[in-house]
Amino acid sequence: MSAVILDGAKIAAEIRAEVAAEVKSMTAAGVTPGLVVILVGHNPASEVYVRGKVKACGEVGIYSEQHTPPDSISTEKLLELVTDLNRREEIDGILVQLPLPPQVDSKRVLLAVDPAKDVDGFHPMNVGFLSTQRPGLVPCTPAGVMEILKRSKIAVAGQEAVVVGRSDIVGKPTAMLLINSNATVTVCHSKTRDLPGVCRRADILVAAIGRAGMITRDYVKLGATVIDVGMNQVTDRAEFERLFAGNAKREETFRSKGSTLVGDVHPEVAAIAGAITPVPGGVGPLTIAMLMANTVRAAKLRRGRQ
Ligand code: NAP
Repeated sequence: MSAVILDGAKIAAEIRAEVAAEVKSMTAAGVTPGLVVILVGHNPASEVYVRGKVKACGEVGIYSEQHTPPDSISTEKLLELVTDLNRREEIDGILVQLPLPPQVDSKRVLLAVDPAKDVDGFHPMNVGFLSTQRPGLVPCTPAGVMEILKRSKIAVAGQEAVVVGRSDIVGKPTAMLLINSNATVTVCHSKTRDLPGVCRRADILVAAIGRAGMITRDYVKLGATVIDVGMNQVTDRAEFERLFAGNAKREETFRSKGSTLVGDVHPEVAAIAGAITPVPGGVGPLTIAMLMANTVRAAKLRRGRQ
């Protein structure tokens, strides 16, 4: 048996096209959704992510602005910036790119973002809306996981879902979305006893751990749907061999770049899963697509539409 590959890049392109059509009709009606990204300092990884977000805005017709305060910025100054953006009517989404420098109180800054403009869905008010099933803004990566399941016509209601990882950004909101879609959900973490045994109960297994290829075939029930949220760079040769021995294409990437991107799920799982998201090209592309969708949603919610 070989798993159906759930093509995240294709699903993300579909969502972006839908968002672009919606932005076009909103713009024709006089409202162009607007997103501001705040990027503090010069973190190379953050710079790459922010470039991707700004580029995506341009492609779907969302107005975007980038604010780049210096690394030395104080909490107070950043709060002033957020407050200004909260007040601006034409801005629908405010995204503060994490991590922030150590002198900045990140929690205070995230709490200051108007929940109606919180397109990352991290504000406690949006967390509460999600858990009480009220209209609000849902974190992008978990929302992307649900879109993959929905658009791939994978049944969720009544299924056993296991989420490995309990972060506020991925694990917990994914678990909440699965509960809201009537799955029976178990959330696992580093203190879970017999993790492989618990994971083997899953019809839908979501891995959001941050450990390269940790989920091996021992963790997976035959025919299960496996959603791999993990994004890990493998640079160690022995680790590479454990994951990709005999894979000529990966070998080429590894040789030329000195690293390769791998999820939390071992590639061997594709032989027993019923469906699986690849890395790269699975959950990753959905995150920016859902940010675009969230910005449009914020623009509508702020104007009293759902
Ligand atoms: P995180 O905040 O570090 O959380 C990791 C979770 O995994 C924690 O709950 C931790 O348990 C659990 N964990 C760690 N080691 C474990 C083990 N040996 N057994 C069982 N559970 C274990 O990470 P995150 O922000 O949720 O991200 C998770 C992964 O998703 C990362 O690879 C990240 O790069 C990726 N990611 C991808 C996207 C995307 O766009 N595709 C977006 C966000 C994140 P404890 O709570 O007990 O410590």
